[in-house]
Amino acid sequence: MIEVQDLTKRYFDREVVKSVSFFVPEGEVLGFLGPNGAGKTTTMRMICAYLPPTAGTVKVAGVDLAQDPLGVRSRIGYLPENVALYPEMRVEEFLRFRAAIEGVPAKEVPERLAYVIDRCMLGDVQRQVIGTLSKGYRQRVGLAAALIHKPPVLILDEPTVGLDPRQIVKIRELIVELGRDHTVILSTHILPEVEQVCRRVLIIDQGQIVADGTPDALRTGFSGLSAVTVEL
Ligand code: ATP
Repeated sequence: MIEVQDLTKRYFDREVVKSVSFFVPEGEVLGFLGPNGAGKTTTMRMICAYLPPTAGTVKVAGVDLAQDPLGVRSRIGYLPENVALYPEMRVEEFLRFRAAIEGVPAKEVPERLAYVIDRCMLGDVQRQVIGTLSKGYRQRVGLAAALIHKPPVLILDEPTVGLDPRQIVKIRELIVELGRDHTVILSTHILPEVEQVCRRVLIIDQGQIVADGTPDALRTGFSGLSAVTVEL
């Protein structure tokens, strides 16, 4: 579903993503684990067509990034690290707005809206103003917005950062649930998060993939994990 080949990003003379290659089959929930500054966000933004690669190729659901960046973007639901929500908008209003931006046909909007509100457990706050919601709820609004155009792929960048433990559990459960019918990349620096949510994990460090395997195998067999923050 996602094919990344020799993906590279250079800023001036510094390569921050160095010839990264990996393949994510349909239905997999892949953990993309690495310490701060490793190159996770840069890689995710290149895959989502928000940042032009210096070199390399990306294909998402058979669509080539270089030939059809908007085609790639339409197949991905992207939740950035600091998702931009409009605090003065009501949840439902914001999701309608995002549906319009993503080109969801008007006649499909009510059905999509009902679906994402149900899936992200937003029923009790759908008429509430976003600025009054807790961070956990706001993150679920971000996820609902990422899902509004029915993308087959979800890319989530550090979705639990800054949440309290109860909200973290809820978001992780929701990601597991969404992984049943989406291909997911979960970028994080938290090892237990990938252990709870993913069956396969890539470790990126200083712009390079340094390990690829099950969370168990990596915990026991990869000494570089000490560089990765181990949190809740
Ligand atoms: P974090 O968890 O802190 O967001 P990350 O793994 O997502 O870390 P990136 O944000 O991809 O890391 O950054 C990788 C490296 O690229 C960092 O050293 C960062 O300073 C550098 N970098 C990112 N954007 C730019 C830019 N626009 N110009 C120059 N350097 C950049």
